[in-house]
Amino acid sequence: MLIAALIGVGCSSFSGSDSSRSITVRRGLARNLLISPKVSLATFHVSGRRDTATALDNMRQAAAGRPSRRSYYQRAPGGAILLDNRMLRAMKTLEKEGYTFRVTEIAGGSHSRKSRHYLGTAFDVDYINGMKVGWSNPYYRRFLRRCRELGATEIRGPGDPGHRTHVHAAWPRR
Ligand SMILES: [Zn+2]
Repeated sequence: MLIAALIGVGCSSFSGSDSSRSITVRRGLARNLLISPKVSLATFHVSGRRDTATALDNMRQAAAGRPSRRSYYQRAPGGAILLDNRMLRAMKTLEKEGYTFRVTEIAGGSHSRKSRHYLGTAFDVDYINGMKVGWSNPYYRRFLRRCRELGATEIRGPGDPGHRTHVHAAWPRR
């Protein structure tokens, strides 16, 4: 794959946790997801809190090549984090495979204390293919299975505590 070949080039000359290549990949994926008619990005938090860490804000920040903001309320730690390219690539793959979905949280919002949202490796979805996530949604199980196939190691949905109306997929710590 071209991407694999490119990743092999240039990494060694950069220090820190993120190479210039992965910054470029992140920006490209985020820009692509921002203009996708099939991926909606929430402009609010379910909590009702207002800040600049909504899913739409987070994606715009990534598209600009910047870390994405976390919220400061309740258990959220504040600060900002680079979104995980494996997660963004999975969102793009799901979209390409025909899913429409709404992302409600990425790095923002308040979650459990050690939530992977704060690491930039998790996202939440509350609508899949035009239907609210819940027991009767016929798409969410396959959606989550696909996330797992695409590398997610933590998936939650209806039946898991706190996930009656949304699904959660998270990738391991980088
Ligand atoms: Zn979540």
